Amino acid sequence: MHHNVLNPLKFTLFVHIHILAYNKEKGVESLVYIHGQNVLGIQVDSETRCAHYHKEIDRIAIKFYCCNQYFPCYECHAQCGCGQPKPWPKNTFDQKAVLCGGCGHELTVAQYLNCQSNCPNCHRTFNAGCNLHAHLYFETEKGS
Ligand SMILES: [Zn+2]
Ligand SMILES: [Zn+2]
Ligand SMILES: [Zn+2]
Repeated sequence: MHHNVLNPLKFTLFVHIHILAYNKEKGVESLVYIHGQNVLGIQVDSETRCAHYHKEIDRIAIKFYCCNQYFPCYECHAQCGCGQPKPWPKNTFDQKAVLCGGCGHELTVAQYLNCQSNCPNCHRTFNAGCNLHAHLYFETEKGS
């Protein structure tokens, strides 16, 4: 009968230590509800900024084709997502895949690639640097 009393205690200690180690190594994983969409990443703020990209203009989240889930950036996907990123195929560019953290407008891939780093709805500026990484999210030629 004695070990029946001890087992739950051991289990509680194990879980507690495991969670502390997890946070220290990876940062705080957060699932934030932004303008009607759940955005998953590390230290996500109310306009989709994250631990990796947190300038004022970093206000888009990208839905990953592989996970069907919004993430602030590819590093957030690497840490919180499926681990096997797949860019949106060219024939899916009419699908909504980019969330403006400023107003909640969802852009299709084609709209995002042609938006000149400006939200077509609220006209807030997006980080033009994200376009340099477009090939990580969408099936485009690198650097084009
Ligand atoms: Zn994924
Ligand atoms: Zn990130
Ligand atoms: Zn907007």
